[in-house]
Amino acid sequence: MYLYTVTGAVGEEGYLDLAKSGDLTGKNVYVNMTNKCPCSCVFCLRQTKQQQEGNTLWLKEGEPSVETMLELFAQYDLNVINELVFCGFGEPLERLEDVCRVIDSLKETYPNLKVRLNTIGLANLIYGRDVTPELKGRFDTVSISLNAPDEKEFLELTRSKFGIQSYEAIKEFAVLSKQYVPNVVMTVVEKVMPEEKIQKCQEICNTLGVTLRVRPFEN
Ligand code: SF4
Repeated sequence: MYLYTVTGAVGEEGYLDLAKSGDLTGKNVYVNMTNKCPCSCVFCLRQTKQQQEGNTLWLKEGEPSVETMLELFAQYDLNVINELVFCGFGEPLERLEDVCRVIDSLKETYPNLKVRLNTIGLANLIYGRDVTPELKGRFDTVSISLNAPDEKEFLELTRSKFGIQSYEAIKEFAVLSKQYVPNVVMTVVEKVMPEEKIQKCQEICNTLGVTLRVRPFEN
């Protein structure tokens, strides 16, 4: 499933194929173009084989081409939606170039399209260079999963292939992104994290000059 809406229901029913989502007015449309990710978070649904095989966000047929995505989008009127969200069952920026091509093409038709990136914030380590200038004019919001109040806990949770440097890297990614993206947000999940750790995350975000969003817990 490449394009979907979120119904609010828990589990698999929570994701609805765009083709079955009815009137899209005011809705967020989610884009799932890759299952690749530099992390293997302990809480990620990608971790279990059962989820991989059964989950509609697992791209059994492989990653869609840019052309396939644009053909799909052509079936819908994006003027009416609230926001287009690149998230996926993986890290969207694993396909940085393709994601940029899709957005550029859509913005020719919809210059005012609001676009958000949900990311783990490790793209600069993936590519070995600063890719944040490429976010300019493409994304209105970048939402980075902070996950933890320190580097050790972050690594334990995400099992990032880049190791202990990952936490510093995502904070740097947030700061760099601010130059190019109007709204940079870092997120943690409520209930999963005790209040004092959320407070520490808030202080980190204050220092970085970004907004902390405490996401509601969904299992
Ligand atoms: S960063 Fe996201 S997609 Fe990657 S393993 Fe963690 S939860 Fe899963």
